[in-house]
Amino acid sequence: MVRRYSLFTLLAILAGCLAAFAQALPEKVIDVGNATCPISGEKVAEGVVLLHEGKLYHFCCPACLETFQKDPAAAIAKIKDAKETPLTLTNVDGKCPVTGEAAKPDIFVVRDGKITFYSSVEAKEKDAAPAAAPAPADQGSAAPTSEGETCGDCSTCSGCPSGH
Ligand SMILES: [Zn+2]
Repeated sequence: MVRRYSLFTLLAILAGCLAAFAQALPEKVIDVGNATCPISGEKVAEGVVLLHEGKLYHFCCPACLETFQKDPAAAIAKIKDAKETPLTLTNVDGKCPVTGEAAKPDIFVVRDGKITFYSSVEAKEKDAAPAAAPAPADQGSAAPTSEGETCGDCSTCSGCPSGH
């Protein structure tokens, strides 16, 4: 009984170590940039991505992503159109930019060549929200000014002083 107990303890410690190791963020991430789903051969969909051993793979649908996870090596071997580009890690300190807690390696957003990890899906959505829907208060400051700035909206603007 005593021996069995110690074995379980050992396994529990080992499992704990593995879990802690799995939570570490990758030191660098490479966007594989495949345009064709390695499972179905279809065009990949926006945002259907998986981070596997520091590389970001693209898929046509979540089902293909799951298939990939069952046998990554076989799927990776099928990728013929990889255009690998390194992504910039925005939170190398491993802390979620929203909550300040430890970010998780499976919760992330890739935007403009950058990858950001979050501590929870809620935090990720919170951070993504302002970019998707700009606050109405920002609209006023977007108008052209006498300093010669551009408003960026030529459909309603008669023309910027700088000739935008
Ligand atoms: Zn698919």
